[in-house]
Amino acid sequence: MNRPDSTSIRGFRGPITAEGAPGALPSMQTAVTVRPELTVEPLDSDDVARAIGHAAERGMPVSVTSTGHGATSLTGGLLIRTHRMSAITIDPDTRVAEIGPGATWDQVTAAAARHGLAPLSGTAGTVGAVGYSLGGGISPLSRTFGYAADHLVDLDLVTPDGRLRHVSAEDDPELFWAARGAGAQLGVVTRMAFRLFPIDQVRAGALPVIIDDWAEAADRFATWSAGIPDHTGTFLSLKSFPDLPGLPEVIRGKRTATVYVTSLGTESEAVDQVRALGGLVDRSAGLAPTPPAELTAVFREPAGPHPFQGDAMATSGIAAQALATNAPCLEAEDRPQFVFIHRLGGEMAAAPDEGSCIGNRDAEYLARIITGPGPAHDPAVIADEQDRLVRSLSIEPAGRVLNFLFGDNRGVAPAHDCYAPDDLRRLVDITARVDPDGLLAPARGRLDGR
Ligand SMILES: Cc1cc2nc3c(=O)[nH]c(=O)nc-3n(C[C@H](O)[C@H](O)[C@H](O)COP(=O)(O)OP(=O)(O)OC[C@H]3O[C@@H](n4cnc5c(N)ncnc54)[C@H](O)[C@@H]3O)c2cc1C
Repeated sequence: MNRPDSTSIRGFRGPITAEGAPGALPSMQTAVTVRPELTVEPLDSDDVARAIGHAAERGMPVSVTSTGHGATSLTGGLLIRTHRMSAITIDPDTRVAEIGPGATWDQVTAAAARHGLAPLSGTAGTVGAVGYSLGGGISPLSRTFGYAADHLVDLDLVTPDGRLRHVSAEDDPELFWAARGAGAQLGVVTRMAFRLFPIDQVRAGALPVIIDDWAEAADRFATWSAGIPDHTGTFLSLKSFPDLPGLPEVIRGKRTATVYVTSLGTESEAVDQVRALGGLVDRSAGLAPTPPAELTAVFREPAGPHPFQGDAMATSGIAAQALATNAPCLEAEDRPQFVFIHRLGGEMAAAPDEGSCIGNRDAEYLARIITGPGPAHDPAVIADEQDRLVRSLSIEPAGRVLNFLFGDNRGVAPAHDCYAPDDLRRLVDITARVDPDGLLAPARGRLDGR
């Protein structure tokens, strides 16, 4: 592969940084090493096209990042950082948001809230709205409205041939189908439009679990959540923090267990649902009316950069006893271990009319593991352990869930595990047409295995 002769790109207007220049690459993920040959920060779609043209002429693999929540290790090639392209426009009449690829959910939810509208954002406001939506996008409101990607209206995409394409169900149905769930395989998105919903409040709460036995708690959670209405979303979070220096005193050496509930039902329905949780949670916590833009305060995701590795399996049911069998591993003394069980289903089971490549539509639950590795941990060893754990928690594992695969575990949890076999074949055909020379290097690997 040829090296670039300089750090200049013809006509490029944004900053360009060569490998080895001072200044760390900011990223939410600190468990990976990102060392591109050239990092570019485009100001607009023309800049993106120029950068891709430059890389194509030199055979440099192209990667793209916004916030780094989904980052994996990379060495060499050209990295496109989209953070300078974060414009947001809300059309209150059509209820559509148009955003640049650098916009975060915090920025989008705040802009939409000014018009009494809400997007299908996730539990963390720091996540990039475009990266999230291209991978499907599971919102606390998805059981009511579906995946975020189901509500894409259209997008602009620079493909590896340097062309800026307008992709919608009418203009380019094939790419539109692929963009809804596998968008990172197609090029660099420079603008995205998606639907918003007229929601002024959600009843939401973080309910502390009062049962010490995690297997019993998970079993009760799965039974309760099997019967909830579609206007309710929920997940169970089980966290074990070892007694290690460096961890905040308030969590060090502790286990926490919480049921998160979001409901668009009436107040009395919300009260009934919490009551139905019986002796599983401390019911005095309850659900409080919460503006959508403030929902992230309920979930309290980590706000700053940290190391994490994660695997995620969609499944028909939860084998809760696996939490007891694997207790020594889930309560490891040298690393934080988190288990999350999400209720899927509802509108997520229904593909939109124009189709989408999102897999696992029939799955009822999502079982996932997050590990907070230290520098001495081998990602491959953690990947094998997590694979075993998510499988043991799953009755009939259905497939992996792209957005919740984190860190350097591509060998065990690759992108192609996330799609139905027919959809995967169709995606491989599409990417072969769009990127015949294999220029793109998506964080979770190419679907054709190159
Ligand atoms: C704390 C936390 C909470 C989360 N909560 C949720 C949640 O509730 N629901 C959910 O579904 N997911 C959630 N996620 C997962 C998140 O949606 C994915 O990690 C997503 O890929 C992050 O996108 P990003 O742009 O922020 O990250 P980045 O690491 O910057 O991007 C991730 C990948 O997306 C692709 N990508 C990004 N921008 C573009 C672009 N412009 N064009 C083409 N490809 C692009 C690239 O392949 C890139 O490697 C969460 C993650 C974390 C760490």
